[in-house]
Amino acid sequence: MRYQDRINVIKGIGEKTERIFNKLSIETVQDLIEHYPRGYEEFAKPIPILNIQEGVTLAIEATVHMTPKIKRVRNLQIINVVVKDASGFMNLTWFNMPFLQKTLRTGYRYIFRGKVVRKNGVLVIEQPKIYSKEEYYRLLNILQPIYPLTEGLTNNAVIKAVKQVIDKLDFAKDYIPKKIVKEYDLMDRTKALKEIHFPKNKDIMIKARKRLVFDEFFLYSLALRKLRESKIQIKTDYLMTEQQECDDLLSNLPYKLTKAQMKVWEELKADLQGQSAMNRLIQGDVGSGKTVIAILALLMTAKNGYQACFMVPTEVLAKQHYNSLVDMLSSFGVSICLLVGSMTAKEKREAYEAIKNHEVDIIVGTHALIQEKVEYNKLALVITDEQHRFGVKQREALMTKGGQPHVLVMSATPIPRTLAIILYGDLDISIIDELPARRLPIKNCVVETSYRPSAYRFIDNQVEEGRQAYVICPMVEESEAIEAENVIDYCEQLKASLKLGTTVEYLHGKMKAKEKNDVMERFAQGQISVLVSTTVVEVGVNVPNATVMMVENAERFGLAQLHQLRGRVGRGEHQSYCIFVCGSSSKVAKERLEILNKSNNGFYIAEEDLKLRGPGDMFGIRQSGSLEFKLGDVFNDSMVLKQAAEAVKRLSDQEVHGIFEANPYLEDKVLGNINGTL
Ligand code: ADP
Ligand code: MG
Repeated sequence: MRYQDRINVIKGIGEKTERIFNKLSIETVQDLIEHYPRGYEEFAKPIPILNIQEGVTLAIEATVHMTPKIKRVRNLQIINVVVKDASGFMNLTWFNMPFLQKTLRTGYRYIFRGKVVRKNGVLVIEQPKIYSKEEYYRLLNILQPIYPLTEGLTNNAVIKAVKQVIDKLDFAKDYIPKKIVKEYDLMDRTKALKEIHFPKNKDIMIKARKRLVFDEFFLYSLALRKLRESKIQIKTDYLMTEQQECDDLLSNLPYKLTKAQMKVWEELKADLQGQSAMNRLIQGDVGSGKTVIAILALLMTAKNGYQACFMVPTEVLAKQHYNSLVDMLSSFGVSICLLVGSMTAKEKREAYEAIKNHEVDIIVGTHALIQEKVEYNKLALVITDEQHRFGVKQREALMTKGGQPHVLVMSATPIPRTLAIILYGDLDISIIDELPARRLPIKNCVVETSYRPSAYRFIDNQVEEGRQAYVICPMVEESEAIEAENVIDYCEQLKASLKLGTTVEYLHGKMKAKEKNDVMERFAQGQISVLVSTTVVEVGVNVPNATVMMVENAERFGLAQLHQLRGRVGRGEHQSYCIFVCGSSSKVAKERLEILNKSNNGFYIAEEDLKLRGPGDMFGIRQSGSLEFKLGDVFNDSMVLKQAAEAVKRLSDQEVHGIFEANPYLEDKVLGNINGTL
C-alpha cells in the first residue's frame, strides 16, 4: 500500500464510508495516517464500587444483581441494571439497547467501563461498555486512540482502518536531516507515525508526538525561511503618495488616535510609499483599535487610484466592516463592495464585473475574495484581519497581471513576543500596546455554577438599562451537531430564567451563513438583548452596546480564547462585565482563570499562561482556533517550536536547498500549508 493511495484501497471502506471520511478531509492513506488521535483512553484496572468518583471514566468488575428491566420514556428505551461487588451496589443505565436484557445474565460477572455521572443524586454509569474479564485484561494499560469524528463515523471504524494500513506502508520520506534527528534525540519518523496511533505506553506516545510536532514546526519554519528569502527583493508596481483625505478622515473621527495607533499608521504610510512590497503584521490587543488603521490604509490606496481588499474570517465580520467602511468612506468618493460566499450567483457576478472594471476601489469579504473568478484591477493592498495569512499560491491568485500587492496582516492573538518572532518570521511587526484612553476597564469575576441565578438577575438589570449581553454556551467536544443542540437547549432554559419578554436568540456554527448574518445584524441593531452563542462570536465582532459577557465552562477554554471573548465587551462608553463560570472544582482550573480575573492585558495573560503550562501538558486545552497545526500547539509545545525554529535557522543555504531539491513536492506542501495554519 502506498501513501498516496486513495483510502478506498482499504478493506471495509466502500463508497459510502469513503464519503464520510472525506468530510474530515481524509482522502488518501496519508491523510488517514495524519489523522492523529485527539487523546487516548487508558484502560486501567477495575476499581471497587465504593471508590467511584463523579465525572471519571473508569471500570468496575461486578455481578449482575437483578434481572435488567426496560422502561419506556417517550421514544427512549431505558435499561437499568443493579450490579454489585464486594464493596457495594450501583446502577448502570443503557439507552435503546433492549437486547442487553438477554445478554446480561443475573449472577454473572462482567467488567463495565464508562463515565460516572450523577442522576437524581446518585452515581451511575451511563452506557458503559461491557467486557468479559479476559477481554478486558488484554486491553489493560493500553492507550486506545480517540479520534476526531464526524457524523456517521465511529471511533472503532477509524481504529480499524488505521490498523489495516499502519504496518503495510512504505512510509513517506523523512524531510529532516539525520544530524538534526540525532541532535534533538527525535524518534524515527516511521516509528513515530505508528506509535502515535497505537502507543505501547505513555512515554513512547510522548516521544512519538514530540517527533511529529517537531516535524510540523520544522517544515513550517522552513517554509517561512523560504518565503522570507523570496520576498526580500520584491519590488512593488504600485507607488503611492500621501493623501489629504486620510488627514480629513482623522479629523472627522469622534476620537483621537492613541499614540500607539499613530505610530503604527506612520509606519504603514512609510511602507506604502516605499519601493518594495510591504509585509507587515499589526499585533494589537483586543479593542486596541486596529480597524481604523486598516481603514486609513484602504483609503490611502484607493485615493492613489488602486484597488484594495480586506479579508476577514467570517461573513458576520465582513458585513460589519463593510458597513463601517461605507459609513466612513463614502463621503470621500470611494466605492466599496462586499463579496461573501452566501451572496447569490447573480450578486457575485455583478461584484466580479465591478471589480474587473475598477468600478469599485475597496472590496471587503471572506475567502470568497481569493476565488479564481475574481479578477482584480491594480490590486495594490491586501489586508487580512484576525491572522488569516496568505500562502504563496493565494498571493499568486491575487497578483493579477504583474503587480505585487502590499500585504498587511492584523492579529489580536496575544502571542508572547518570543513566539511571535518565530511564527511571523517573514513579516515586519508593528505593535499597538495601548488601549484607547477613557475606556472603562472591564470588571471580571470567576464564579461557580451556583452563582448562575445571580448572573441572570445581573443580565436582567443590564438589559433593563438598555444594554445587551452575550452568553457563551458550555463547550461540547464531540461534534458540531451536539453543540448546536446544546446551544438551542441552553437558549430555551435561559429564556425561562430571564425576565419575561427579553429577546434571547442563539448563534452556532451549523447555522446557514444567512441566518448567522441575520441574527448578528439584529443583535448589532439592538433588536436582540441576549445572544446565546458558541465561540463563533469570538472573532472581531463589534457591538459597543453589549456590556456583559458570560462564559459557561470557562475552564475548558484557552486563556487567549477567553480573552478574545471578553474583548467583545468593553467597546463602548458603558461599564462592562465579564463573568467566567467555572464548572470544575480543580485548583489548577481556578488558578488559570484567576490570571484573567486579575488582568485585562492580553500579552501579560499569554506570558502567564505559558508559564503555567509545563512541557507535560500534552493534549491540554488548545488555544483559539487560529494558530492551528495538526498536532502541535504553539503554546503547549512552545519548547519544541523553539527547537525546530532554531534547527532551521542553523541550516546553511545549501542544506535548505538540498532539502527542497531532494523532495520535489515539498515546496508546494510546506508553502501551501501556511494558508491553512496561520
Ligand atoms: P480591534 O483592535 O479589536 O479590532 P476595533 O478596531 O474594533 O478593535 O476598535 C474597538 C472600538 O474602539 C471601536 O468601536 C472603535 O471605534 C473604537 N476606537 C478605535 N480607536 C479609538 C480611539 N483612539 N479612541 C477611542 N475609541 C477608539
Ligand atoms: Mg478587530
